Amino acid sequence: MEKVKKHTEYMREYRKLNRDKINSYQREWRKRNNYTEKYFNKNRERINKLKRNNKKRPEVRQKITKEAREYKKRPYVILKDKARKIAYNKIKIPKGQLCQICNKAIAKERHHKDYKKPLEVVFLCLKCHVNLHPIKNKRGLK
Ligand SMILES: [Zn+2]
Ligand SMILES: [Zn+2]
Repeated sequence: MEKVKKHTEYMREYRKLNRDKINSYQREWRKRNNYTEKYFNKNRERINKLKRNNKKRPEVRQKITKEAREYKKRPYVILKDKARKIAYNKIKIPKGQLCQICNKAIAKERHHKDYKKPLEVVFLCLKCHVNLHPIKNKRGLK
């Protein structure tokens, strides 16, 4: 439970820091799809309902879980998860440690330059850490 809560907070913070990026992404997408704000507002209820129902369809659900399962099996992901676990358990972030990029904010994150070396991490603040990772990486940082 704790873990889930922590992750939600993390994602909220992440989205906050990336708001500009996310917004411009959405703008671009709408432009490409000729998808105007007006249209969306007019049809918001209907669209949301469609989306909700779509997720309930068994074939869609199956596809989502299957994709998640397959994602977890990729060697890169296995390596990454392992490295994160090891670093989380073995490396304490020193009290008062400053971010090793900006040197201003307190470091609260561990970042791996190479997942093959799980014990080699740099300590970063959330902002610098988010900057290091492409926005495509929706499944979390590190
Ligand atoms: Zn920083
Ligand atoms: Zn990282």
